[in-house]
Amino acid sequence: MGINRRRVAFHTLGCKLNFAETSTISRSMPTEHFERVGSGDSADVHIVNTCSVTETADKKCRQLIKQLVKRDPEAFIAVVGCYAQLNPEKISAIKGVDLILGNNEKYDIANLIPAGGKNSVAEIYSRELTAEELFRGAWSAGDRTRSFLKVQDGCDYKCSYCTIPMARGNSRNPDISTIVGEAGKIAKEGIEEIVLTGVNIGDFGKSTGESFIDLLKRIVEVKGIHRYRISSIEPNLLTDDIIKFAAENEKIMPHFHIPLQSGNNRILGAMRRRYKREVFADRIIKIKEIMPFAGIGADIISGFPGESEEEYEDTYSFIESLPVSYLHIFPFSERPGTVAAQLEGKVPYKVKEKRCKKLISLSGSKQREFMEHNIGRSEKVLFEGLENDRLITGFTENYIRVEYPWEPSLSGQAKEVTLTGIAPSGRMTINMITTKNRL
Ligand code: SF4
Repeated sequence: MGINRRRVAFHTLGCKLNFAETSTISRSMPTEHFERVGSGDSADVHIVNTCSVTETADKKCRQLIKQLVKRDPEAFIAVVGCYAQLNPEKISAIKGVDLILGNNEKYDIANLIPAGGKNSVAEIYSRELTAEELFRGAWSAGDRTRSFLKVQDGCDYKCSYCTIPMARGNSRNPDISTIVGEAGKIAKEGIEEIVLTGVNIGDFGKSTGESFIDLLKRIVEVKGIHRYRISSIEPNLLTDDIIKFAAENEKIMPHFHIPLQSGNNRILGAMRRRYKREVFADRIIKIKEIMPFAGIGADIISGFPGESEEEYEDTYSFIESLPVSYLHIFPFSERPGTVAAQLEGKVPYKVKEKRCKKLISLSGSKQREFMEHNIGRSEKVLFEGLENDRLITGFTENYIRVEYPWEPSLSGQAKEVTLTGIAPSGRMTINMITTKNRL
């Protein structure tokens, strides 16, 4: 091994897709030149994979970069990903940054880090995205429990508040055989669960003439992977076939995360979303009809320009009326270059904050209701690796987090349990189902 191997640390912000891509990039670093260290360690090279979905995300990226420059002033700092794609100039203004790579160039980072020390000025490689971008595969390893497998990238939707199509380009995907091959590699790593991820995965198949349901039917055949989770899917792309297949096939988890964004049709129109709220409600009812204990999460943007108190209340009561299990709440964030940034009727910060708070408490009561609904039921839990206050935690198939006294042999294992109650931590308590106490 070359004595001058450089210690490289990776830092990932943002979505599951970013984690899959960081993991893939880290595997591409030649080990004869680079030695991977932890994100908390001192390093010769720091690589930051960024997110730019909101103003807060941008701020977090800048803060992390400044911390790393302070922590390791001699280190080579490379910034890649969505924020680097959308705003390379802003990043190059941060003292200590050496290299800025867009969403295509980031895969070639190993060849773009010079052998010597820092660059005198930040070098930028971040070209404009075209409509003919290639698909670059990615999957995460290193976490024995689950792997994020990238099946789709980019988006052809033009939601008025979103910059992701500008950061990641057009919707594209590899053919199903390629993904089945990658799932096979993940199985060899001894990983139990794959989370199918992308930007708009319901749009899978656009560039290959295939479909998402085709992918599901093929990927469940891969030996060694016992659980597949659909990371997130648009309501208008969640077909009856997909719901039916999830109900019939034990490998597809009964857990759906569906971006709703608003429960008011005028606001959905201003967001340029491709469905009315009735479509979302219909999907929820369809799921619960054939999978009464399915876990259902929804994204909500609160405080969209022009959102009146009545329209907000409309969203609140709409969600309250539906059997969703939890919510992810996002205060509206004005993004440069989007249609929504030009809209009148900006909602004051205090009002946005108040609306988000109320939705967060609604999410809490929905989650509690869902947990109570599951008490006494048996579920299969995939236990995670890390000890947490002398406890081991894990997720049920329908996405409930549970806890159990720390037992190292359980980590990475899927076990049958009975859900017994709700712990002060907000997780559910369980009993193991053993051959002796199996009903
Ligand atoms: S579907 Fe809409 S919100 Fe989602 S990535 Fe595409 S443009 Fe953005």
